[in-house]
Amino acid sequence: MKRVASIAAALALACTAVAMFAGSLLAQADGAVYDACSRDKQEIRAVALPEFLNEERCPVAGRVIVDGGIGAVVPEPGMAVIAEAETSNGHQYLSVGNPRGGRLVLDGVGREPGSEAASGFGTRASGASQCGDPFYSSRDAKVYKYNRWYVNGRSIPSYLSKFRAVSAMRQGAANITSVRDACGLGDGVRGRMIYEGAARDSVEITNKPSCTSNDFKSEVGFGDLPSNYTAFHCAWVWPKSGAPNRVAQTDIRLNKFDHGWTASVAGSCRGRYDIESTMTHERGHTFGLGEASESYHGNLTMSNFTNGTCQTSERSLGKGDALGLNRKY
Ligand SMILES: [Zn+2]
Repeated sequence: MKRVASIAAALALACTAVAMFAGSLLAQADGAVYDACSRDKQEIRAVALPEFLNEERCPVAGRVIVDGGIGAVVPEPGMAVIAEAETSNGHQYLSVGNPRGGRLVLDGVGREPGSEAASGFGTRASGASQCGDPFYSSRDAKVYKYNRWYVNGRSIPSYLSKFRAVSAMRQGAANITSVRDACGLGDGVRGRMIYEGAARDSVEITNKPSCTSNDFKSEVGFGDLPSNYTAFHCAWVWPKSGAPNRVAQTDIRLNKFDHGWTASVAGSCRGRYDIESTMTHERGHTFGLGEASESYHGNLTMSNFTNGTCQTSERSLGKGDALGLNRKY
């Protein structure tokens, strides 16, 4: 009896020890959630996170990662989202990847060239000439076959002809897909944009601005953005190993609350941005081009400041823009 009792006592002690150990593990796991990710925060600051993020330490599903004033929701497993913003202080870029079974991957965190801040929109083009500058930067994104897209017709400002506004957007896309450059480099792009018509729903972009949910429908629309922003681009991509990620969806918002727009720059133009020029730059992002520094590459379409209102210089690509496209495609 005594022997049995001592075994029972030993077992009880062992169980207590296991329970205590399990308890300490749980406490440890709970304590390991980063402060930046605590469950009461809907937005998570990217700079507070490591580049490769263990989701057990930061439960991020459905939350928005923010950096430099822009954000992107954590995409579904197996996708990445790339946010690009055009602002008076230069460019902002943020990429959030959520590989299946892997760790969250962030790029573009805290690196933007605030030092290039200008006093306002519209800088004089600087750097080498349009056809003398071979620079380009590239994002991990490519339109392999085509991207079908829609325009939110109701969002077009009432002072614009809907037909002409949409035509300007389509021409902006065509300037990229046909590599319309001023330097005679030719067209090596095989991906296409297919315009599908008007849509009633709006782009998956909030006015903060952030890329929000992914509905697999690519749209362009006018809407609200912070006042120093002209445009915002979101690309949702499928990761591909050994090759650029495949573009699945793209959304673009043009800021109509703080800026005026035109479909055709004429002598009467006052303070309006050219839709075609802006859309050419944005479709450069759709096709996987990144930004070029304004100080050194100001004559390229992908330079990070617009050349200003009532002008069309960015409709036609520079040498680096065309080289970047032709080498990717
Ligand atoms: Zn840009």
